[in-house]
Amino acid sequence: MSNESVISRRNWLLNAVEPSTQKRFADKLRLVELTKGQVLLGQGQEVDAVYFPEGALIGLVSAMASGDTVQTAMLGWDGALGVFEACGSRRSAFLAEVQVSGAAWRMPAAAYREMFAASEALRINVHKYVELLLTEARQHVACNALHSVSSRLSRSILEALERSQDNRRLPVTKDVLAEMIGVQRTTASSSIATLERAGALTNSRGSIEVDNPALLERKACSCRKAMQVARREIYQTHEDVCDEA
Ligand SMILES: [Zn+2]
Repeated sequence: MSNESVISRRNWLLNAVEPSTQKRFADKLRLVELTKGQVLLGQGQEVDAVYFPEGALIGLVSAMASGDTVQTAMLGWDGALGVFEACGSRRSAFLAEVQVSGAAWRMPAAAYREMFAASEALRINVHKYVELLLTEARQHVACNALHSVSSRLSRSILEALERSQDNRRLPVTKDVLAEMIGVQRTTASSSIATLERAGALTNSRGSIEVDNPALLERKACSCRKAMQVARREIYQTHEDVCDEA
């Protein structure tokens, strides 16, 4: 792997690692192509590798005893899969499935633990990532209770596009969209049809094409803005915040 490819990484967490540490661990990283539908981790499975998406989108899905499933988080270039578990329980509490095909860096969990110990910048950014995911999870609990399906769907599509490599086309089926916002497929279908009639998007061949991003933004619930503000604040946190007395 050349030095050039090390610098050109898009993944926010991997990019944070100091250049000298990146170089030290370069041979532990492998760029892999993840395919839609691929299961990277099963619920309860041991976490033996960490994935840093570049263009791929990974959905974290929780299965209930009844067999119902709901997506609880979506990971893209601004996050990573397994970074908490690799240094904690080492087991996955969810199913991790690729929602949108694309590239990701794969690193064995043991090597990741070494890199985590070696890189202060990585530890700071993983800390910020914890805060971001917790904030997002709390916001989504409120969102599910208070906001309409259509406005949640609009927000989810915009968020997923930001985390993938294409800002107009989201290659996901209605089933995945329904799972993303925790509703039945028929409910998701009727909201998609409403957004289509309004001219915000087109749904065809298992894919969503955003025709009018500004309109979709207006249709999205207020959690969209709230999370953008929270994200900005968390990312702008002073690097030395943990050292302050
Ligand atoms: Zn909301």
